[in-house]
Amino acid sequence: MNIAFAPPYIDQSVIDEVVSTLNSKWITTGPKVIALENEVKKLTSSDAAICVNSWTSGAILMLKWFGIKAGDEVIVPAYTYCATALCVLHCGATPVIVDVNDDFCISSKAVLKAITPKTKAIIAVDIAGWPCDYEKLNNIIRMPEINSLFNAESNKQRALGRILLIADAAHSLGATINGLAAAKQSDIAIFSFHAVKNITTAEGGCICLNLPPAFDTYEEYQYLKMYTLNGQNKDAFAKSRGAGWKYDVLFQGLKVNMPDICAAIGLAQIKKYECALLPVRKLIALKYCKGFKKMNWFMAPPLLKDNRESSYHIFALRIKNLSEFQRDQIIEDVVSKGVAVNVHFIPLPMLTFFKSLGYKISDYPSSYLQFSREISLPIYPQLTNAELDFIIETVIGSVNAVMGYVKSEAIALDYKVEA
Ligand SMILES: *Cc1c(COP(=O)(O)O)cnc(C)c1O
Repeated sequence: MNIAFAPPYIDQSVIDEVVSTLNSKWITTGPKVIALENEVKKLTSSDAAICVNSWTSGAILMLKWFGIKAGDEVIVPAYTYCATALCVLHCGATPVIVDVNDDFCISSKAVLKAITPKTKAIIAVDIAGWPCDYEKLNNIIRMPEINSLFNAESNKQRALGRILLIADAAHSLGATINGLAAAKQSDIAIFSFHAVKNITTAEGGCICLNLPPAFDTYEEYQYLKMYTLNGQNKDAFAKSRGAGWKYDVLFQGLKVNMPDICAAIGLAQIKKYECALLPVRKLIALKYCKGFKKMNWFMAPPLLKDNRESSYHIFALRIKNLSEFQRDQIIEDVVSKGVAVNVHFIPLPMLTFFKSLGYKISDYPSSYLQFSREISLPIYPQLTNAELDFIIETVIGSVNAVMGYVKSEAIALDYKVEA
């Protein structure tokens, strides 16, 4: 067999939507983007949704919107994709990297300890689609002794009057807390529509606003749409409809708008998301859990508990008492049998760039532990039952072979953190 890791879901409806966009002769930001924004808004029960050309640019945009600048601090977890911290650096601010819990999510205890008078925002990452404990994070940013540290330096910061809570929801479209969209639990949730994500526009992202009443959401939506278009007060679509050639540039915006030709892909997919694509992902995750249940090395990923439900973006298999070296051996073996797998994520302090900034993995023992024993398995609607059975069988075979091979060393190597 030859099983891909995360191919995009392209059916006839996706092709038709893209072709209709081409035939419409309007391929950049226009009606398809608006339609996709409306679908995301509905799916996440958000007050507003703004499409952009990536999660990364959306995060830079929102940090700039909040007035984050040099000297400010933004708290982010070590266990994430680099973009979560890079967006902070792009604004000249400092990412304050903290450790995660056993469920991959940012540790609230570590967040509480990391807050200083310079802290302007927290970016919590819903790893694999598993929503963070937003109740705890929301409580922390509203604690009187924390609130009194907050130093508002921009209009938006004065309007909010506290630390901004951003969800890195790159993985978690469709995740819920108490049966409601998880995105509702943060001030700003940013989704990624990169090619490997649950819904894709090839490259893209969407910013969902759920701001407190001090903000006029419609006004913020219009302002942010301009922000994605160089601060221009009239987009090309409006100009093309004979709405007049005159325009103005009101402020120093970015150029991070999503084109309609991309939105078309996501638009066709999202219409099938809740009724078909997401339920199939869940079925696959449950099938993996059932397949591995009897193995004493199996650690089930967090999927459905404590009133939270994942969006089943990544199946993060973890293996008990495993060293990083053994994990790599298992991957090598599984890949050689035709199953593409991955690791989510290499903690930021293990990457050359972050090391050069002075971050050390020894400060993040839980992130290292999760990383060292994690293998992400294929999970997407096109997988067949035969392929799933093959993946389960192959993984069990490889784990047992590798674990049996160096069983006594496994215990000693576990919890070893490289400097
Ligand atoms: C994919 C991903 C991003 C970046 O998304 P882009 O759309 O590629 O910018 C950010 N955070 C996490 C956790 C991701 O997995």
